[in-house]
Amino acid sequence: MIAEIICVGTELLMGQILNTNAQFMAEKLAPLGVDLYRQQVVGDNPQRLTEAVLTALDRSDVVLFSGGLGPTEDDLTKETVAAALGLDLVLYPEEWDRIVGYFQGRGRAPAPNNRKQAMFPATHCTILPNPRGTAPGCLMEKDGKAAILMPGPPRELRPMFTDYVMPYLEQRSGHRLYTHMLRIFGKGESDVEYELKDLFDGQTNPTLATYCETGEVKLRITAQAKTDEEGEALLSPIVAEVEHRFGDVVYSENDEELAAVCHRLLIEQGATLSCAESCTGGLLSSAFIDMGGSSAYFIEGDVTYANEAKMGSLGVKRSTLDRFTAVSRECAEEMAAGMRQKAGTDYALATTGYAGPDGEQVGLVYVALASRDGVQVKELHLTGERSRIRRLAVLHALDLLRRKLCAK
Ligand code: AMP
Ligand code: MG
Repeated sequence: MIAEIICVGTELLMGQILNTNAQFMAEKLAPLGVDLYRQQVVGDNPQRLTEAVLTALDRSDVVLFSGGLGPTEDDLTKETVAAALGLDLVLYPEEWDRIVGYFQGRGRAPAPNNRKQAMFPATHCTILPNPRGTAPGCLMEKDGKAAILMPGPPRELRPMFTDYVMPYLEQRSGHRLYTHMLRIFGKGESDVEYELKDLFDGQTNPTLATYCETGEVKLRITAQAKTDEEGEALLSPIVAEVEHRFGDVVYSENDEELAAVCHRLLIEQGATLSCAESCTGGLLSSAFIDMGGSSAYFIEGDVTYANEAKMGSLGVKRSTLDRFTAVSRECAEEMAAGMRQKAGTDYALATTGYAGPDGEQVGLVYVALASRDGVQVKELHLTGERSRIRRLAVLHALDLLRRKLCAK
């Protein structure tokens, strides 16, 4: 099965918007057994769009469209594709009612031109719901060809693609996919690949692929199978082998992020947490508070940036700062211990370091974890820009907590 992607929008063509939709869709096609040979970007121009559509329908089985489903004059993907397939658009009353309802829910009324968002071909058409916006997507199928139209805004396209388009492609290609996404903290991508070389080499089912994220590696293990049991039977020996080789640097089998793992474990264990932050300036606390339900354990987060704040809020001793400076093992230890005592929590995390860009010791960071067993401190030598150093410091602090909670 051959697919092609057409992203519509002059703003994409001119480089004012990054074409993230193409990347989002493209990387999901190969594992579905779909070959992607071409991508096109076309401006909001009827002639050139028609040309693109006709060419794509001629040489591909499935054409995936993003954008041009809005209510304005320049949004013409649906009209153009329908015309190319020889289909006329009619008003779908239930879609129009839904659009009216969408606006009413926001205390507004639809404009007359929103009506075109409720127009679809009378036949050969399946509507793809869009709970996050006014423009539904649609699937037009004719003469063995499929055109799949999705709205441009990524927050609308992504769930539509995952919820409706991927299952459709999976069914059409006859490939059923089972995936484990392992997350690894504490090992670089090239080490992961090198140490698993024998598992990567020559494997067609399951397949392995690595993805880099800031400070982390994701390892995707995907199997094609006919049933859930068969899929799991193909995946679980590989997952077990990776975990056997790598040990506890593998912290998730199902793409759960570090902060989410800590969040879940803190709730499961009924434990409480506080954070004292210097160089991370609230990012660490925010990593927890980003998740709904964090009030179950998160008690307090202090940003103590100046020495006075470290002394005044956390009880760091002046003599410690004078002797070792604020970026020291000793200071991190006192920050974590002081925070834990002040907030009365089971655990307290602390961060202090040089995030740069100026200074001689940029990247030197200490993260600390206080618990009833005492304080653990980790010295880090991080590299990169200020934002990356701060983000890495957060991940290391989370990992310290994750390991402690897992050891329970
Ligand atoms: P449209 O559906 O063409 O009206 O697009 C609405 C908005 O979605 C655009 O203004 C962009 O902000 C965004 N958008 C459209 N296409 C893409 C794309 N391929 N990648 C990322 N964002 C996009
Ligand atoms: Mg547009």
